[in-house]
Amino acid sequence: MTAKIIDGKAFAATIREKVAGHVARLKEEHGITPGLAVVLVGEDPASQVYVRSKGKQTVEVGMNSFEHKLDADTSEADLLALIDTLNKDDSVHGILVQLPLPKHLDEDLVINSISPEKDVDGFHISNVGLLGTGQKSMVPCTPLGSLMMLRDHHGSLSGMNAVVIGRSNIVGKPMAQLLLGDSCTVTIAHSRTKDLAEVVRRADIVVAAVGRPEMVPGDWIKEGATVIDVGINRIERDGKNVLVGDVDFASAKEVAGAITPVPGGVGPMTIACLLANTVTACCRSNDLSEPEGLTA
Ligand code: NDP
Repeated sequence: MTAKIIDGKAFAATIREKVAGHVARLKEEHGITPGLAVVLVGEDPASQVYVRSKGKQTVEVGMNSFEHKLDADTSEADLLALIDTLNKDDSVHGILVQLPLPKHLDEDLVINSISPEKDVDGFHISNVGLLGTGQKSMVPCTPLGSLMMLRDHHGSLSGMNAVVIGRSNIVGKPMAQLLLGDSCTVTIAHSRTKDLAEVVRRADIVVAAVGRPEMVPGDWIKEGATVIDVGINRIERDGKNVLVGDVDFASAKEVAGAITPVPGGVGPMTIACLLANTVTACCRSNDLSEPEGLTA
C-alpha cells in the first residue's frame, strides 16, 4: 500500500480562506476587525521567523496584527504590565507570547496572566481545564490542526485506537484530550513507555510528537493506519540541511493508509489554526456566532 499524502499546505490554505471570509463578514456586518497581538522577548532566530510569518498571515486574512518586540533582558514586571494592557485593549482579541521565553522569566506565570478568552495558544490553565473537562475552550493550535486533518480524512474518529507519542503540554496532552473528545480509545506514550513498537502497531491513528528525527519506522505502523507527524527536526543529509519528522516517511508511507509529510503537513496548519482561534475569540468576546469548522 502507498499512503495518501495529507497535504497540510493545501488544507491550511482552505482554513485561511474560511478565516478571511469570516473576517470580511465581521467587518462588513459589525464593524469589527479581529486583532492578534504577538509578543516576542529576545532575539531567538527561530522565534523571529515564526513571529514574522504569523504577522504576515494575520494581515493577509484581513486582521490587525500588533507586534511587540521586547529586549531579552526585559523584566517580568514589564512583560506582565504589557500583557495587562493587551488584556484590557478591546482591539486585541488574541494574545500570543512566543515561547520559549528567556530563562529569567517564569513561563507559567506569564501564560497564566493572559486573559483566558484571549489566550489563542490555548496554554492558560483555565483553557487546559476546560479542554480536559470537555467544555468550550481555546484549543492549542498544533493539536487542533492535527485533529482537523484527521476529521477531514476519516469523518468520524469514533472507536478508533489512537496512540499519541509525546506528552508535552503543548502537543501530546491536548492532542490526547481532543482524540478522547472524538471518542477514540487513546494511549499516550512517552520516553518510559515499554515496547513502544508494539503499542504503535495497535493504533489506527498515530500522532508522533517527540522531537527525534525519523524515530518511528514503517514496520511499527499498522497496515492502513493514519499517521500525523508533528515532529520538526533539522538534520544534515547528503551535505544539505533538511527538515524531517519524527516518522521515517519513506518506510511509513508504504504501510500507512494516510500520512502527513514534513515539511508541508502539520506545520502549515499550526498558524492557520492560530488565525482561526483569533476569529473564534473575537466572535466569543462580541457574543456573535462562531465560525463553523474552525474549532474543536
Ligand atoms: P517536548 O520535547 O516537549 O516533548 C517530547 C515528548 O516526547 C516528551 O513527552 C518525551 O517523553 C517524548 N519522548 C522523548 N523521547 C522519546 C522516546 N524515545 N520514545 C517515546 N517518547 C519520547 O516536545 P514538543 O511536544 O514541544 O514537540 C514535539 C515535536 O513536535 C518537536 O519536533 C517539535 O519541533 C514539534 N512541534 C511542531 C509543531 C508544528 O507546528 N508542527 C508545533 C510544536 C512542536 P517524556 O515526557 O517522558 O520526556
